[in-house]
Order: sequence, then structure tokens, then C-alpha cells
Amino acid sequence: MKWIYVSALFGAVIFMLICFVYTVRKSKGNVLEKAVNKVLLCSSASLFVNSLAVLMPDKNSAVAVYSIYHCIVDITIISLSDFVRQYTGIASKIPKEKLIKWLAFAVDCVLMIINIFTGIVFQCHAVADDWDISCFHIGGRTPVYIYHLVFIYFMVFSAFFALISKSSESPTVYKGKYMWLAIPICVVTAFHVAFLNFHFMFDYSLLFYAIIGFLACYYGLFYIPRGLMENIMFFTIASMKDGIICLDIDGKCVHFNKNANLYCNAYSDLNTIEQKVKEMREKHVSPERKEAVWESKRLVFDEERLFTVEYKSIFDSHHHYLGCFFIIHDHTEETNRLEYEKYRATHDMLTGIYNKDYFFETAHGLIVNNPDKKYYIICSDVKNFKLVNDIFGVETGDDLLRKIARLMTYIGKESGVYGRLSSDRFAVCLESSHFNEEMILDYTNMIDSLPENDAFKVHIHIGVYEVIDRNIRVSVMCDRANLAIKTIKDSYENVVAYYDSHIREDFINEQKVISEFENAIESGQFRAYVQPQITTGGKINGGEVLVRWIHPTDGMIPPFRFIEIFEQTGLISRLDCYMWELACIQLDKWKKEGRKDYYLSVNISQKDFYLLDVYLVITSLVRKYRINPKCLHLEITETAIMNNPSVQLKLIQRLRNFGFIIEIDDFGSGYSSLNTLKDLSADVLKVDMGFLRNTENKEERSKKILQMIVSLAKSLDMEVITEGVETKEQVDFLMDFGCDVFQGYFFAKPMPVENFEDNYLDTNVDI
Ligand code: C2E
Ligand code: CA
Ligand code: CA
Repeated sequence: MKWIYVSALFGAVIFMLICFVYTVRKSKGNVLEKAVNKVLLCSSASLFVNSLAVLMPDKNSAVAVYSIYHCIVDITIISLSDFVRQYTGIASKIPKEKLIKWLAFAVDCVLMIINIFTGIVFQCHAVADDWDISCFHIGGRTPVYIYHLVFIYFMVFSAFFALISKSSESPTVYKGKYMWLAIPICVVTAFHVAFLNFHFMFDYSLLFYAIIGFLACYYGLFYIPRGLMENIMFFTIASMKDGIICLDIDGKCVHFNKNANLYCNAYSDLNTIEQKVKEMREKHVSPERKEAVWESKRLVFDEERLFTVEYKSIFDSHHHYLGCFFIIHDHTEETNRLEYEKYRATHDMLTGIYNKDYFFETAHGLIVNNPDKKYYIICSDVKNFKLVNDIFGVETGDDLLRKIARLMTYIGKESGVYGRLSSDRFAVCLESSHFNEEMILDYTNMIDSLPENDAFKVHIHIGVYEVIDRNIRVSVMCDRANLAIKTIKDSYENVVAYYDSHIREDFINEQKVISEFENAIESGQFRAYVQPQITTGGKINGGEVLVRWIHPTDGMIPPFRFIEIFEQTGLISRLDCYMWELACIQLDKWKKEGRKDYYLSVNISQKDFYLLDVYLVITSLVRKYRINPKCLHLEITETAIMNNPSVQLKLIQRLRNFGFIIEIDDFGSGYSSLNTLKDLSADVLKVDMGFLRNTENKEERSKKILQMIVSLAKSLDMEVITEGVETKEQVDFLMDFGCDVFQGYFFAKPMPVENFEDNYLDTNVDI
């Protein structure tokens, strides 16, 4: 029996050491692990020393080893108690418990050591088993032994109660974790009590140490409650946004969540779900397939929703089929959001038609994918759109833009694409068979006034580009259509303009002129030409200064090729200042030569009044060169004055007061001529024969109008210069009417100022 007992103890020791090695290898270094390891080691030591004690050959050595064994049991129980504290998280309520515990242990150790020599705690005596094999057994326990018992029972009970109380307060799934440790502790105690009271030969309770060590290791470090996993799975699946349906091997539904229920419209009825699942499998999953994905649309609460359904089979590690599951993903919002984002990326949010980039893309696709069809790019631009926003507010402007967008849809509806390029610019790419100008005019006429204001007339200009080279980018095609618009942008009569190569050349020329301006003005390429002005007596007292651009490679460039461009870009003010200064330099030179009564007349562009302080610049020049302001005649067009009469009339008055001679240039070519004459206090009225040339019955009408203008000017004390005089006949009747001065090719063309000086100044002309 002795050997069976000892072998069982050794077996238990080896088992616990295996557990110890296993936990050390799996160690994550936490406190609970250390506590488990202590329990395993101490228990192993208890069992080992107990088996040694049983094997001792004589009484004294048996007493010594049993005494040491008792001390190790103390440590084992302490380690168990420490483990339970860590495991349950329940701290001892006894103050300074640790200190008391170790003090009590120390006292027990001292008693056990004394016992080796005195036997004051217990004695040993030999007993023989059934096979008459003797061993030494603890006997003759003195009352001092009770101290040891109280110490270890107190520790064991406190651990036991901690486990019980933790178990009682824990949710059901966790209860077992504590109960399965409390039960072997209880059993150990029962066996120990039996051992003490019924004089068993061996302390069988020790064998349960191994069970406790193993359970501490298992529950403390590796155990995950099965119920916990089930609960977690259940709640995870229940709270998933996707619907889940799980089927077993027979196709029976073993689990489904709320969203799967909604998808199947099953109202939690298992049969309905199984029926729906069966239908889905038959329709979408062929028998040999392990996985499948498909899209589906369903009405959920009367709203159509979009789903992706994923089917997956489940197999065990030996590839045996276990069952399958369906994941039902509702992507309605996601799809709507993506579609909205795509819409935002491709459409103009104000008008709902394509935005610029998407229009370019789709128009390009249309043109390139239909090489057998001809296309037009049609662009639109609203004249003075900024004014609409400014005067009537942004909302009215927006309304107008929406209306124009609708117009584009009408134009492009047959075979085209249309979009908004920028604020008031729209474009249509249209198959040529559906394009005709009348239709476009009809449509543009539909928007002739503002949505809520009839007084403001809306003019839409249309530029048309015929697509010939399909490889040109659509943006460039639109630029070209817009260039065509530029040619009619100031016109109220013309609505449609077609792009042709001249427009492109003009544009290129425009860019060239602009880019060369700076260098031209700095290197003196702009020269002053003078056209003589002749009095009725044949005298030449001065002339008009007209600019000529003497280009190093292109030769002489006349003003009509660049003046308008400079006016548009604002460069005109720099050119005019330059020309005025040339005139002043010339007058200064004449003054120094004693020719101080001669004059030069300079042109002031309409734009100068916006870009410059004309008064300040001109008076400064006159002061700088100390010339008589009377020698500098200022030509201001009637249109420039009438654009802002109240300001201009005051300015003219100030300039006159300073001493300048003011000439109203191109009189008669503007709108309000005669009517405004009465308010104008200018010195000279300059009438251009040219403006009357193209009218019907030209001879008679021209004469009558001229006659009237001249007599009106005379009655207002103004001198009259007629320019554009080309024939002797014109000179004659102009003289009859009372015209004072003539300028025209009949007498001389504009010429370099040196020519004028040498050949015309101080000379008399026959009239
Ligand atoms: P404008 O001020 O009305 O100048 C008169 C234009 O009529 C000049 O053209 C002149 O050459 C032309 N002309 C004179 N007599 C006759 C004639 O008998 N028959 C015809 N068919 N034409 C005649 P030009 O020099 O080409 O100037 C054109 C316009 O350019 C000028 O019209 C003026 O508005 C502008 N311009 C010229 N130089 C300047 C300048 O320095 N500054 C500004 N702002 N404008 C200028
Ligand atoms: Ca002029
Ligand atoms: Ca003129």
C-alpha cells in the first residue's frame, strides 16, 4: 500500500510539473500566471516531501521530514490563498492580512523545527499495512498541533468562501469557473478531516492537491466559458447591421438575426425564413458551389432597398460539410450616397445639367465614338450677366441661369450633350443634322427678358464651332466657339456667330499685339504721324496727331489693327500718355523755333477717362514742357462724353478753363448728337464725312445733315472741322455751308511729323 501511495504521489508530482512547464511556456508574464505557478510548485513540493516522509526508515528522520512537510503545506496553502485572491479579485478584509499570515507561518515553522528535537507538536510511530510493510505515520499530536490546523483551515476556508461568494455574484456563465475550484478545496478538506479523525494510514487529501493545481491552471489561465462564447456570438450577430442566417447540414435554420428577419419579411417565423432561404439557394447557388454573391432588391416597409447576399458553406477540419450561412448586406444608403457623390462630381448643382469637366468628357466620347457623324459645339454667353446679379440680385441671376440650362436641354435633347462651363456660359455638343440656326434663334428668343422683370432685356449670344478635327480637345472647341461670340459681344442685333479661321487669326494677332506692346513702347516703335488741317483761307496752322506702329518685322501697322485691342485691355491709356507727350515735345520744339502759334490735336480715348486722371496727366505735361495749352487741342469723341455726361461735361469745362481747345470728335456717329449739343460747351465740332458715306441717297442726305450740323454749331459759337474730305466738290459745298477747317486725303494723308514740318507747316494751299 505504501508503494502504491508513494507512486500515486510521484505521479501527481510529475503531472503538476508538466502543468507548470506548460504554463511557463505559454506564459504572458501576468500576475495570475505567477500565482498559478506558485500553487503548482508548492503543491508538488508538498506531495514530494510527504512521500519522502512516508519512506523514512526511522522515527527521528520521519519526524524531521514530517515537520518540514508541515511547513511546506503552510506555504502551499498560502500560495493557494494568494491565487484565489488574484483569481476572484476579492481582497481580504483583514487589515495587514499579509503580515499576519507570514507571521503566523513563521510561528508554525518555528514550532515545527522545535518539534524535530522535542516532539512538542506531534510524534511519529510505525504502522504496518495489510502486506506488513511498515512506514512512519504521524501520531501523538499534542494540543500545539491545533495551531497548525487553525492556521491552514483558516486559510483554506477563507479561499473557499472567496470562491463561493464570487461564484454567487457572477453571471451564470462564469459561476462554474469558481465553483469547480471551490468543490475540490472542499473535498481536500473533507479528506483531511477524515484523515485526522479516522486514523487513515495515509493522507489521501494530498492527491487532490494535484487536481486543485490542475484546475487552478486550467480555469485561471486557459478556460473560456462556453456559454460566454455563445452569448457573445449571439449578441454580436444580433447587433450586426448585416442580416445573418445560419443553416445546419439539413438546411434547418439554426440562427438568424433581426435584419435577416426584415429581409425575409418573416415576422420571426422560422418556417418563412427556411422557405425564403430555400428559394434563394435554388435561384442563386448551384449545388457544387461553396460560395456565392448576388445582388437583390426588396421592399422593406414599402421602401425599395438594395442588398448584397453572400452565401458561404462551412466545413470542419476534415472537409466535412457542416452547414452554411448567408450574410445579407443592405447597401441602399451606400449606393445612394455614391450615386449622389457621382452626381455632384458630374453635374452642376445649380442647374442640374452636366458640369464643365463631365460635359467635356461626354462630348469627347460622343465625337470620337461616332466618326461617321458631324458635330457642332455651340456655346452661349449672356450679355451683361454681371449686371443681372448686381441689379436684380443673385436669385434672379440663378433663375435666369436655370432657364438657360433648360434652353440647352431643348437644343441638345435630340442627339447631343449639354453642360454649364462657367457662370453664364453653357455649351451643347450637337449632331449637325439636328442643328439649324433658326431653331437656335427661336430658343434664344424664348428668353428675352428676366423671369420677373420685363424691363431688362436678356441678350444671349451663341458661338458655333463646327467639329472638323476630332482630336482637338472639347475645351479648345468651346474656346473657339467663345471666340466667335467675342466678335459679336457688343452687338444687340447679332445673336449667332460662327467660328472660322479668321477669328482664330484675329485672336492670335490680338495676343501678339498685346504681348509686343511693352517692348514696342519702350523701344519707340510708336510714332506720331500728323494729318494737316487746312483753313478756308488755305492756311495750315496744325494737324491731328495719329499713331503709327513701325514694327521691326511687320512694317507700318495702322491704328485699326491695335487701338481697339488696347482699349479692351486698358493698354490704351499708356499709349495715349506716350502720344500726348510726343505732341508736347513737338510743340515745345516749335515754340523754341518761334513757331508758337501752331497747334497739334491729340486723341483721348473713351477708356482714358476710366483709367487715368486725364486732367492731371495733361495739365502736368503742359506744365512740364511749358507750352501754351491753346496749342494742344484735345479730341474727345461724342460717345465718350455721352457715356457719363454729368462727369464729362464738368471735366471738359475744367480743361477749357485751363486753356485747352476741346474738339468733339466723330460728331454725328453717336446716338444723341443734336439733342446734346446744347449742353456741350466745346470749342470745335469735328464732323466725319465718313459716317454719312454709306447711307442711301448719300449725296443729298449727307449734304443736308452736314449743313444742319454746321449751322447749328455756328449758332452755338463753335468752329467746325470736317475730316475725311476727299474731293474738291466736297470742299466747295462745305465752304458754302460755312465749315471752317478741312482735314482729308484731298489735301494730305497723315505723315511723319518731320514731313509735316518740312512740307506743310507755314505753307498755303490752293482751295
Ligand atoms: P480719327 O480720330 O477719326 O482719325 C481720323 C482717321 O481718318 C485717321 O485714320 C485718318 O487717317 C483717317 N482719314 C483722314 N482723312 C481721310 C480721308 O479723306 N478718307 C478716309 N477714308 N480716311 C481719312 P487712322 O489714322 O487710321 O486712325 C483711325 C482711328 O484710330 C482714329 O480715328 C482714332 O480714333 C484712332 N487713333 C489714331 N491715333 C490714335 C491715338 O494716338 N490715340 C487714340 N486714342 N486713338 C487714335
Ligand atoms: Ca480724332
Ligand atoms: Ca474723327
